Amino acid sequence: MNKIQTAFFVDIRGAFLILFVFNLHGVTTETTITVKLPVMEHFYTIQGEGFYQGKAAYFVRLGGCDVGCTWCDVKESWLAEKHPLWTVGEIVEEVKKSGAKLCVITGGEPLTYNLTALTHSLHQNGIKTHVETSGAYPLSGEWDWICVSPKRFKLPLDECLNACNELKSVIFHRNDIRWAEENAVKVSKDCKLFLQPEWSNEKEILPVIVEYVKEHQQWEISLQIHKYMDIP
Ligand code: SF4
Repeated sequence: MNKIQTAFFVDIRGAFLILFVFNLHGVTTETTITVKLPVMEHFYTIQGEGFYQGKAAYFVRLGGCDVGCTWCDVKESWLAEKHPLWTVGEIVEEVKKSGAKLCVITGGEPLTYNLTALTHSLHQNGIKTHVETSGAYPLSGEWDWICVSPKRFKLPLDECLNACNELKSVIFHRNDIRWAEENAVKVSKDCKLFLQPEWSNEKEILPVIVEYVKEHQQWEISLQIHKYMDIP
């Protein structure tokens, strides 16, 4: 049997841990595990969108996103370096203190980072893990629910569409529905399909979505009910 040795390298900000695994022939594996993450905000609230709408959930919004949606309502999340780095332990402790049984990791684009350590630790503490992602980055982490909300500005990866439990398509213009259908052919047959009006254009686009869903019953409407309730 080959002798296995491990070595660790921590980057200069302490944000990444790179694990090298050696055997007799040299380096065989290199894995980057994010041990600190830029946290823009975190709060216990009600999930306002999609399949889990109405459920209590702790939200952790990670900073950093290069997708560049013109109508993005969290543009202050885009620059990761504006947000403090938290250890996985610090994040999990906040979730535990709230008593929440479910944690939604959102952004920004949360899958910019390897989320294996964070999601594993949440699971070890009995907390369900949900992610809200554009699908533009490779999947990492242990997830109980994957919601992909694809954006035209940076296309979703097939691996994310194939794996998602929920496809949530934000509809700003009626042409976006056609693109939603193009993504829908790549998801599993059990995946929940939602059309969600873009908030700033909701009055104009919602009647179009209502008519579409009446004719295409595999889709459901997702409204951002947290905005109606005026909660985060
Ligand atoms: Fe904003 Fe999300 Fe688009 Fe990033 S993916 S620009 S956070 S709406």
